[in-house]
Amino acid sequence: MNWHFALLLVPVVAWSQTPPAAPAPYVDAHVHPLAGSLQEPSAVMQQAGIRAMVLMPPPQVSGMRRVSDYESFVSAAREQPGRFAFLGGGGSLNPMIHDVAADGVDAALRERFAARARKILADGGAGFGEMSPHHLAARPGHPYESAPADHPLFLLLADIAAEHGAVIDLHFDLVAKEATLPAVFSTALNPSVLRPNLEGFERLLAHNRGARIIWAHAGADPLGHWTPQISRDLLSRHPNLHMSIRMGGGQSRMQNLMLSRDGSLEPAWRAVLEEFAERFVLGGDQFFVAGLPGTGPGIEFSRFAPIQRRQQAIFLSLLAPEVARKIGHENALRLYKLKH
Ligand SMILES: [Zn+2]
Repeated sequence: MNWHFALLLVPVVAWSQTPPAAPAPYVDAHVHPLAGSLQEPSAVMQQAGIRAMVLMPPPQVSGMRRVSDYESFVSAAREQPGRFAFLGGGGSLNPMIHDVAADGVDAALRERFAARARKILADGGAGFGEMSPHHLAARPGHPYESAPADHPLFLLLADIAAEHGAVIDLHFDLVAKEATLPAVFSTALNPSVLRPNLEGFERLLAHNRGARIIWAHAGADPLGHWTPQISRDLLSRHPNLHMSIRMGGGQSRMQNLMLSRDGSLEPAWRAVLEEFAERFVLGGDQFFVAGLPGTGPGIEFSRFAPIQRRQQAIFLSLLAPEVARKIGHENALRLYKLKH
């Protein structure tokens, strides 16, 4: 057993003792079917009362061991349009952005990038994901990614999203002020000092108000800068900003959790969720890997999925019914154009 698994076991045991609640069928709007097949996600949906999932490839960069983009699951997803929506670009658009400096984008690259983005939408994608201007490596084999959020290709993507009523699902590890890397994230890939990145993110949000940006992993951020208060400030300033909520999922390194250890809802988060109930969806970051050979971060992350689902059910049961309805499914049906 390596130290990663040692870290995982304690919280897994604690949450597995909590009896599963039974929420109204909900949507999980951030799911990674790494194995391509949708058999395992379908079976899980049945058991867990999940009415639909939004599928997407993880945000990838050149030089890492790549998984694919949306092509691996698109035909299976299209067979069940009410149960699956999908986003693309994590395995194609995201590496294109990270491969070029902000001042190195020429007309030919813009053209190639836009053509790929339009192809994803033409194939039935509800938007682009998982994209990432800043992504900490959580494990060996997991990438560190850093590009300005207002990189010209992110701005171009916002324009294309706005033009088509599509969304951008954005993994963005917020650095509100310069910080040293927490020791638990010291892999070879992460820098030891993290530079502030909020201003570029706000410029991306302001660039085209027609682009709906869904900031992924509210309630489980690695650096602790994504607080309920900063969420309120940004949601107030940026009407096109949405957030998808990831429960802690038993990952003890995550901060700003919505469910406290005793299973209650953090009051500061509850206030933001109630004030901006139209702007949140659930996004469990569930990885499905059945049949995938070998090892890798995705296979390790897939172990969190059952805990994530249990916590999603508990979370929904703690919200006022009208807030649970919006966050649980209504917002997601609207944002990802899922059939009712
Ligand atoms: Zn992510």
